[in-house]
Amino acid sequence: MVWPLKYQLTTALARLRERGDREAVGEGCADFTSRKQPLTPGFAVPSPLGEGCYQGNCFACVLALILLAPISAQSGSALNVKPCRVLVVVEQWDDPTSVLVDSEKDEFQPVVALLKAWSLPFDIFRLDQQHLDASYLLDRSGAPRYGAVLWLADSPSYAGQNLASLEQSVHAGTSLVVVRSRFLDPALERPLGLQFREAYTSTSPLETTRPHFIIRQLAKQKMERLDVSGDESMRWGVEAQGAEVLITQGKHPILTLSHPAEGTSAIWMGVSPALTALRDSPYWRELFFRSLVWSLGCVVQPDIDYSRRLVVTFDDWGASEKSFSALFNWHFPTLSEQQIRERLIQPLQKHHAVAAADVVDGFVNRKTQRIESPWLQKFTDDLGMLQDYTSTAKGLKAALATGCLEIASHGWTHMQPDLESPPGPWWTSDLTGEASAIGWVAEFEDWRRKKEIPAIAQLTRMKYSRQALQEDFGQLPLSLLPGEYAWSKSYANHTGRLAARAGFGIFHVKGHFFYLDRDLVLDMAGIGPEVGHGYDHPLEAAKWSEHPDGPVFMTVHDRDLALQPDFLDRLFASLPEGMETLSMNRYVGILHTQISSKDAGEWELAFEFPEDYGLYFKNHASRWRAWLSDPLRDNLKALGALRVVIDGKPTTKLTATDLNRETLDLDLPEGLGQHTWKLSPAR
Ligand SMILES: [Zn+2]
Repeated sequence: MVWPLKYQLTTALARLRERGDREAVGEGCADFTSRKQPLTPGFAVPSPLGEGCYQGNCFACVLALILLAPISAQSGSALNVKPCRVLVVVEQWDDPTSVLVDSEKDEFQPVVALLKAWSLPFDIFRLDQQHLDASYLLDRSGAPRYGAVLWLADSPSYAGQNLASLEQSVHAGTSLVVVRSRFLDPALERPLGLQFREAYTSTSPLETTRPHFIIRQLAKQKMERLDVSGDESMRWGVEAQGAEVLITQGKHPILTLSHPAEGTSAIWMGVSPALTALRDSPYWRELFFRSLVWSLGCVVQPDIDYSRRLVVTFDDWGASEKSFSALFNWHFPTLSEQQIRERLIQPLQKHHAVAAADVVDGFVNRKTQRIESPWLQKFTDDLGMLQDYTSTAKGLKAALATGCLEIASHGWTHMQPDLESPPGPWWTSDLTGEASAIGWVAEFEDWRRKKEIPAIAQLTRMKYSRQALQEDFGQLPLSLLPGEYAWSKSYANHTGRLAARAGFGIFHVKGHFFYLDRDLVLDMAGIGPEVGHGYDHPLEAAKWSEHPDGPVFMTVHDRDLALQPDFLDRLFASLPEGMETLSMNRYVGILHTQISSKDAGEWELAFEFPEDYGLYFKNHASRWRAWLSDPLRDNLKALGALRVVIDGKPTTKLTATDLNRETLDLDLPEGLGQHTWKLSPAR
């Protein structure tokens, strides 16, 4: 196939950049391009692929550039570090109040869940409610607010939106990543260097065209060629008009790259059959992650291999049910302090493990018909079993003191808020009759009366739970698991949305979990599986789905320890090789850490550990891993020896050899609030 002259030239240009002549390339054309935008500190001049040349199809300019390169350059910044934040543009969002992202209603959910799982800060921009203009893209000084715009919209037109502002921000330094979209607007086509032609179906394999950072990992894993013989879905057929094609399917581009302005890239990904492939297909996931690293220059993640991590939560501590239930043999004695030491603390310490106790801090007392403190209860129940909750509390506190256990919420009572209305009152119903119905022990969905629990009733009980746990154990719980996994799902009564209002950071239910903060309730479906386990059935870890982006959430019960003293040893013995526990509070803290970057001649990353959710970091140091794009590594190497400055204090030196790898490890000291990690030239 003979490529058009224009494609050959622009490809040559792209390769010059790849070779490390980016600055020369930019400067070479600076004289040929009209500077429509003021120069933004931290970003270089518009390149020949910017408005001045590309928009006008200026072949002479590109040709001159090839002839003139390389020419030494003075770009606006030695590093070209971008804001570490992504603007995700979506066509619509089901929640009119823009709080709840629902995996069953919002097509973009897999993408934002991935960004959250990758600790990559983002904002969502919804075209169905907002008018796009420069105010969302550039700050008051004209500098870009975002390192990249992730375009997920696919409208037949964007009438009423100011897409020229998007192009403006691209020239100011914001990269563009367009996924599964026909990008039907010249302001999208120009930076991408592409044009949509028509939809098509093909089962030909996807193949890479040449080595590049974005496909480097696929090549290492011998995954350059993807068999899609089973995918007969319609794909978007596009034609490269300046973009470089990195992956093709026959004659059709599948992944393209252009550099519309110096230090700025525009990537188009023809992902198929749906956005879920970015999360579920190792091929697309890898391409997506590295496209983001290339676009932003840097992505910072916690130094954790989630595929080998497990969050273990023990339910039901303090629940009254165990002292009266006729359900499923759920009648058993409370654990004593000594038993907790032997069956929980010792094995956890032996395996260097940590678990969370999902505690119920309201005891439903049938005798007084009141909710009381569990920890004052010590009695022999109707079946002659000693129930010593006071001793349990001592054991839990001892475990907390060792650091191998954390306190989480399992609701306030693990029982219906209304124990009196028909078919109650439960208080006086026969324990082998009406009172044995399982619906009575679900707190956040009214199984017994087949309806939801009103929002205010749920919220009040969440607040009672938090208050009681704070009083009894000295810490606010950061996660909530509803008893019986029963939760209300309508928008008004959505248990996750209410848990966010109450101040929880994670709400987990059967199958998936929600990330929660005061502004966002994000369904993380597909990120980490939720599995149940018990002493009386095998672990079956081989059936767990792959989970590279989030830990497995495993729910077990105090009952397992009560009925099988060596339950934990058996559990650890049957875990997959290399699997370790992950602290729930650490995970909540990681997901709530706000990372930002600053380029002022030096490169500075700031980590904000918020007081409300960052409890773990109060007394734990942390290690993070920065993934660097090739251009940023080159720019850092060019500075010579570098000094790592942590919280304003100079620490180790960094040399060019350290930058030969794609990742850098960043160590931060313990303590809430803000920490900074900076690279300065070593003098
Ligand atoms: Zn429970």
